[in-house]
Amino acid sequence: KIEVGGVTKSFTVDGRALVAVDDVSFTVEAGTTHALVGESGSGKTTTIRLLLGLEEPDRGTITVAGEEVTGRSHAELRSIRRHLQLVYQNPFTSLDPTWTVKRLVGESLDRFRVGTRRERADRVREALDSVGLGENLLSRKPGALSGGQRQRVALARSLVLRPDVIVLDEPTSALDVSVQAGIVEVLLSLQAELGLTYVFVSHDLALVRQLAHTVSVMHRGRIVESGAVATVFDDPRRPYTRALVDSIP
Ligand code: ATP
Repeated sequence: KIEVGGVTKSFTVDGRALVAVDDVSFTVEAGTTHALVGESGSGKTTTIRLLLGLEEPDRGTITVAGEEVTGRSHAELRSIRRHLQLVYQNPFTSLDPTWTVKRLVGESLDRFRVGTRRERADRVREALDSVGLGENLLSRKPGALSGGQRQRVALARSLVLRPDVIVLDEPTSALDVSVQAGIVEVLLSLQAELGLTYVFVSHDLALVRQLAHTVSVMHRGRIVESGAVATVFDDPRRPYTRALVDSIP
């Protein structure tokens, strides 16, 4: 379960305070998916950076699986991050092109020195298997993978640490529509199997309907509407939400 309570974050831009996230609160139940939507600059990315402990809020608290993320040292954050993993937006730029799939997927296990060498190799294979990739890809480099395979490798990189929460920034925006469907299927089956909690940012409201249980609509750093996806999208209370839903074909 994730609880975000009254979180505010400002940046100083040209000597002036810019409130990127303004008194934001939401709860995500364990094993469910929460989407953050809103126009560019509305504070979505800053919110997920706060969740991951990559930014410190000016005010407010964030707890993930009962552990407070805010006000932690680097060492403490490292251990919390094992439960909370990020999948980057674009697998074409986020994967080191000189590394093999084996090294890419095993990186965090090596870094945290998890288990023996053999156990790490087993976990890499297990993570690849869970995203529908075979061990025949272990020695390949990103340049020899399709877009969908790269996104699955990016997901497998997060899964090796067996996290409870995965944060996804525009998980399918760099992919063709046909490839997107495969990723959505993998995400849904992983959630059913492992009880993962997802928080994701997307401009794709169709994807939000497919993947998310609950959604928060952000506008100028604030959450203007939040709730079950069907309620928020089909019966919005706020004119801003209606305009956002209507603006997308
Ligand atoms: P997009 O959909 O374009 O990714 P977003 O909703 O994720 O946008 P944020 O990236 O959270 O929006 O940005 C919110 C506001 O905070 C923007 O005005 C942005 O310019 C500002 N901002 C974000 N990070 C920083 C930073 N490190 N320093 C200064 N300003 C920042």
